[in-house]
Amino acid sequence: MLESKEYAPQRAEMVEKQLRRRGIEDTCVLGAMLAVPRHEFVPEELRARAYEDVPLPIGSGQTISQPYIVAAMTAALHLQPTDRALEIGAGCGYQAAVLSLLAKEVFTIERRAELALAASERLERLGYLNVHVHCGDGTLGLPELAPFDAILVAAAAPAPPQPLLAQLAEGGRMIIPVGDSDNQELQLIEKRGGKFSTKMLEGCRFVPLVGHHAWQKPPE
Ligand code: SAH
Repeated sequence: MLESKEYAPQRAEMVEKQLRRRGIEDTCVLGAMLAVPRHEFVPEELRARAYEDVPLPIGSGQTISQPYIVAAMTAALHLQPTDRALEIGAGCGYQAAVLSLLAKEVFTIERRAELALAASERLERLGYLNVHVHCGDGTLGLPELAPFDAILVAAAAPAPPQPLLAQLAEGGRMIIPVGDSDNQELQLIEKRGGKFSTKMLEGCRFVPLVGHHAWQKPPE
């Protein structure tokens, strides 16, 4: 990974004001958020706004999540350095880059080919070599590479997709926004002894998860 001194003060301020003061305590997660150059993941004209407390458009009608949501979802997964993680909805690749500093390997799936290609090129250029970008319907997961210790779904689903639950390892954790197109709740699902337990975290708002085991087409 390339060290980036550019925007370092903005990044430090983001970590302090938006994350630490709002209750993100995990020092590994804070360290990863301090290390990943978020400005490299947004469109050129939005670079100066990359560290603001908001989601930003990344093209194709999609968004890069607000820094706090990226950190909160990452912290909920309690990643171990030996974990294999799966992300659904690569978008610009930012969340995958954050995960990659905390897990052994990250697989991320993006349904829009143009975003998948751009994310893959960007992650390689920035040196995130343990991230693998796949293009396709992420609601199917990656059965050939399962099981995963952690799954992060970065788009809103009507319910947790069955194939993703099936691809969770024993002791595995999945974080997913569940709800309708306007309002969702982050759910943390854990698999222990072959059984799933679900904890409700906080309210959130994501773009829809569109696929075989989610919404059939984007709601207008
Ligand atoms: N994690 C991203 C933000 C995700 S936005 C980041 O760090 O930038 C949600 C993304 O999910 C969008 O890019 C959208 O195209 C994608 N998406 C929606 N449904 C999908 C599906 N079934 N499989 C894979 N990607 C999907």
